[in-house]
Amino acid sequence: MIKRLIKKIFGGGTGSEASSTQSVAKLKTLTVKEHQINPSLVSGNAIRVTSTLQQAGFKAFIVGGAVRDLLLGVKPKDFDIATDATPDQVKRLFRRAFIIGKRFQIVHVMFGSDLLEVTTFRGASSDGAPKDEFGRVLRDNTFGEQPEDATRRDFTINAMYYDPASQTVLDYHGGMADIRKKTLRIIGQPEARYREDPVRMLRVVRFAAKLQFEIAPGTRAPIRLMAPLIDNVPTARVFDEMLKLLSSGHALACLKQLRHEGLHHGLLPLLDVVLEQPLGARFVTLALNNTDERVRQGKTISPGFLFAALLWHQVLEKWQAYEATGEPAIPALHLAADDVLQTQTESLALQRRIGTDMRDIWAMQPRFDRRIGKTPYKLIEHPRFRAGLDFLILRAASGEIEQELADWWTDFLAADAVGRETLLAAKPRMNKKPAPKKTAHSAAQSAAQSAATEAEAEMPAAVPKKRRRRTRKPAAE
Ligand code: ATP
Ligand code: MG
Repeated sequence: MIKRLIKKIFGGGTGSEASSTQSVAKLKTLTVKEHQINPSLVSGNAIRVTSTLQQAGFKAFIVGGAVRDLLLGVKPKDFDIATDATPDQVKRLFRRAFIIGKRFQIVHVMFGSDLLEVTTFRGASSDGAPKDEFGRVLRDNTFGEQPEDATRRDFTINAMYYDPASQTVLDYHGGMADIRKKTLRIIGQPEARYREDPVRMLRVVRFAAKLQFEIAPGTRAPIRLMAPLIDNVPTARVFDEMLKLLSSGHALACLKQLRHEGLHHGLLPLLDVVLEQPLGARFVTLALNNTDERVRQGKTISPGFLFAALLWHQVLEKWQAYEATGEPAIPALHLAADDVLQTQTESLALQRRIGTDMRDIWAMQPRFDRRIGKTPYKLIEHPRFRAGLDFLILRAASGEIEQELADWWTDFLAADAVGRETLLAAKPRMNKKPAPKKTAHSAAQSAAQSAATEAEAEMPAAVPKKRRRRTRKPAAE
């Protein structure tokens, strides 16, 4: 229904309107004085790749996000290279180079563990490319000239090319001016570009939040109306983008911006849940702040932990509902987890491995209530114990459970044999199921900050088969 409406408003993408990618590029060549890129931020391996290609007679540039970050004085996290050499020609020039992809081939050039992606300039016109019924380009794999390659890129600030040898930046679409204005501007006609690839709507939001840039009015205007087109994008791609967004170091800002742009409704059910649930808002805020902090410190984050946190309050709600029907606590929790995972797996293409991690973290939570006999010793041996405990600490920090429980387990983990026995002797043998408790937000915040989500413990290699509901073995013994 919504799709039909969109189709009616924006047409079916039959290529009848002028494609955005036909806009004429106006090239500017920026000198060091104008761009002021600090050469020490440029990866030595990226320079090796561009100079090897150039010495072999090809054009070669650092491109995309790396140039954007260099212009902003930020060290890029990875370097992409664009060239007029074909993938075969690239491969022949490097000892460890691998052609990836079937339809549009790119080359991965490796130096030790450093990977650089080398892409041949792509052709401009998407008019002839196969599209789905809403105008989303399904395949568009022609090689092309550099100006065409620039025009195919998403935003003006992502369409600049840096040549480390001459230290010049080629700017086809006024990217430098937009960097100065802190503006995100889509290249070409916004509606057409979003229709070709609706993921660009998520990208614009991610970049706006991450870079703290404004979205140009023309780039922003169609998003609200065109948002439902994301529904039509393969879920795996939406999930990848969500993961990028959540691991950007600005996850909270990104989610707020998505909501602000009307991109969360119905499209990303995960976000509907996360952002429209007052009960869970504090928990989610703490979890995301925590994640952002870890990313900024260069630490790894675990998608399983993150999604477990985002969906916890939905699980809690369903858990209580199952218990209210007379289901015992542990099976009720598993039923709730099943429900939530099933919905999200369908809509978000949550990978099974991530789903397994989430379930492990959730299932561990009631086990923390049992501080009796050998149970705590068993629990700390669990391969995901650290993630489970970090989750418990967040729950305490958000005021959902008593702080005392999280502190006890933290102490238990750190204690020696005597200390553990003392803790066991001193504490209640079994906790009652906690009732949500209110605490001051600032206290919660500081507690959460100290809760490093060391969630990168080994993940289980095998994914257990989906078990039948009523025969599930309780997690707690
Ligand atoms: P990040 O810092 O997140 O890696 P990035 O701009 O490098 O940002 P990538 O996804 O690595 O993002 O893409 C590299 C480049 O490829 C972009 O800068 C842009 O020029 C181009 N690009 C990526 N995705 C799209 C898209 N959906 N449509 C058009 N161009 C794209
Ligand atoms: Mg990149």
